[in-house]
Amino acid sequence: MMPPAIEELLRPELKELVPYEPYRREGMIMLDANENPYPLPDGLYEEICREAAARQLTRYPDPTAEELRREIAAYAGVEPEQVVVGNGSDELIQLLLLTFGGPGTFSLIPYPTFSMYAVHTTITGGRVIAVPCREDFSLPLPELAEKISSHDVHITFLASPNNPTGAVFGEEELRFLLAKARGLVVVDEAYFEFYGRSFVPLIQEFSHLVILRTFSKAFALAGFRVGYLIAAEEVTAQLFRTKQPYNLNTFSQTAALVALKRRDLYRPLLQEIVAGREELYRALSLMPGIKPFPSWANYILFRTEKKPASVVHRELKERGILIRNLHGAPGLDNCLRVTVGQREEREKFLLALQEVLG
Ligand SMILES: *Cc1c(COP(=O)(O)O)cnc(C)c1O
Repeated sequence: MMPPAIEELLRPELKELVPYEPYRREGMIMLDANENPYPLPDGLYEEICREAAARQLTRYPDPTAEELRREIAAYAGVEPEQVVVGNGSDELIQLLLLTFGGPGTFSLIPYPTFSMYAVHTTITGGRVIAVPCREDFSLPLPELAEKISSHDVHITFLASPNNPTGAVFGEEELRFLLAKARGLVVVDEAYFEFYGRSFVPLIQEFSHLVILRTFSKAFALAGFRVGYLIAAEEVTAQLFRTKQPYNLNTFSQTAALVALKRRDLYRPLLQEIVAGREELYRALSLMPGIKPFPSWANYILFRTEKKPASVVHRELKERGILIRNLHGAPGLDNCLRVTVGQREEREKFLLALQEVLG
């Protein structure tokens, strides 16, 4: 007998799915993934290892991540029952969709934004309603309001600050949408620590609001893969039923716990990054042919007006500098996104950009 044709076994809705393409980063100045560019604060890594060694790494992790969830709850001003942790917030995006979305449902997604909302909607069998943001990347409220009241829209994904635009929205706008929504409204606050304003307090009023956060950015723990969400207990109770019991390993639980307990150590780094962002923004605005967009996160989106973004991207790469090319994504013609690096990295980037632009 002939073996089966594997592509005929594939779920049809996955045929068009474009995989996340890994690329080499070693030896480059990495300003492409919005990580914290600094090493962990002094002594923190050693403390993580000491703490982790004191736990039983030969046994399964705590499936409820109780200690970490208690610390997160104290940090965010909520109850531990309102917190779910995941293997990066990517896992939680998928878990939300597995639990509340799926075939026959829609995700409402204003764009441009983080691509994982649409990717995981497709993987979990749902469909995407994409609505373009305004020219200045603010939310298209009337268009969203019209769609969000549909019973078929089970999840709406918003981000503030939004990636890759850096734009934020206000409480009035969110309240307006929450009042109309028939499904969950997820607000991704991955960059909360660079911005300082959160919608967590609104959860008391709106049990269909979900806040997503991560340790990958401000806390410099991207390699540990720890994300969390905050929501009403009615929401988290369902997610505790569907999540994989051992989704977050002991070492990562410990790392996030230690980092959060020592959060004061991060303050100078965060201040330096925010100050660096302002410097970088000013420098970019002064460059002929470059139009940066205001940002409240640790990266800046900019448009190249004289040279195609893809060429600028390639020529920076040839000079050892990686940034993110967004040309090709809808609404982002000739746009590039640069992460705020350490001072020396920022200077090298600006010099190289000047060279590339001639
Ligand atoms: C980086 C980022 C995340 C973080 O994902 P993790 O899986 O926690 O590393 C989530 N949302 C947005 C918008 C991001 O930019």
